[in-house]
Amino acid sequence: MNVFSHPEFDNHEHLSFFCDAETGLKAITAIHNTSRGPALGGCRMFPYATDEEALRDVLRLSRGMTYKSALANLDLGGGKSVIIGDPRKHKTEALMEAMGRHLESLGGQYIAAEDSGTSVPDLKIMGRRTSHVAGIAARTGFDGNPSNGDPSPATAYGTFIGLKAAVKHKLGRNDLTGLKVAIQGIGNVGFRLARHLKEAGAELWVYDIHEDNIQRAVDQLGARVATADDILFLPVDVVAPCAMGAVLNDDSIPQLKANIVAGAANNQLAQPQHDGMLRDRGILYAPDFAINAGGIIDVFYERTGAAPETVRAHVDTIGDTLTEIFNRSDRSDRPTGAIANELAEERFRKHTAGAGLAPERLACAG
Ligand code: NAD
Repeated sequence: MNVFSHPEFDNHEHLSFFCDAETGLKAITAIHNTSRGPALGGCRMFPYATDEEALRDVLRLSRGMTYKSALANLDLGGGKSVIIGDPRKHKTEALMEAMGRHLESLGGQYIAAEDSGTSVPDLKIMGRRTSHVAGIAARTGFDGNPSNGDPSPATAYGTFIGLKAAVKHKLGRNDLTGLKVAIQGIGNVGFRLARHLKEAGAELWVYDIHEDNIQRAVDQLGARVATADDILFLPVDVVAPCAMGAVLNDDSIPQLKANIVAGAANNQLAQPQHDGMLRDRGILYAPDFAINAGGIIDVFYERTGAAPETVRAHVDTIGDTLTEIFNRSDRSDRPTGAIANELAEERFRKHTAGAGLAPERLACAG
């Protein structure tokens, strides 16, 4: 397995492979760039088939966090961690505590938050062994409701704001009544996004690999059930990937019938060229790291203790950022993902130039 010459390595500052034989923990932590601040990013737990798959995922996710935080104008760097294992089978308190010990050994260069396969209680267990966890403090949330620190509500709200900006840009409408949306993955973020859409009058189709998640969306939101094979290819206005990455690829893009792709999943493009393929097909793609920044914005303010209104106002800027990306894309006839990378790099450079740091350390997210 290549590391420094890995195609996704992209000048990562630090990479740790951690194994704890007693608990069975196998984890990789990647710190891409700390020029803007400590690397903050989720800790994902997933049953990766191979170590190579886990490494590729953590490198792509970690780099994406540098870009996401810069694009959202946050004083944070980019990092991510992955635990290799099935969260429904292999998660134990001892394993989470071992992960906490690993985080502590990194001395605060990387701060973990929840991600797919981990939750606030898991982060709290890690927090018995380290202070370098975030998204766990009970407080009044950005929406005025009590929050246990879980960033998912802010991620879902930001995705909803971004989806509305995409609908306005592509379809020229502010009203979502009757808008048809297909959501792949109806977990922490997907379900909340579905609820916002339902409240705005949209019609929903959902699919999840877990039947109980589908049933909840049917019972509580009147969603219609799609299948694994057709959820991305329904004749809807918007497809919202809210599960795993790489769903926009050579196979899927030609089959898409939606006008817009706007969902929370990280790393939706399998390869950089899929950005252009979407544009060539006339599909408006809301770049994932722009639309799903609500959670990182929320976690950032947990650390500063800002008022809920400040957090909400910052999450609302996701709509403006996306509109700027869409407009620049139209003006320059270039795909939205490339424009989002460019805008993130501009914001990164503006910030680090002032701090006297070397902007060339940030390579292209591709
Ligand atoms: P989650 O684990 O709660 O939800 C993901 C859902 O997708 C689960 O219900 C899972 O069963 C389902 N799923 C997995 N594989 C699937 C498949 N092939 N087809 C359909 N469904 C499938 O995770 P989440 O916190 O809701 O995150 C969803 C996505 O959004 C992830 O890609 C995550 O990295 C990204 N994201 C989350 C946050 C956050 O605040 N939670 C922030 C930014 C980005």
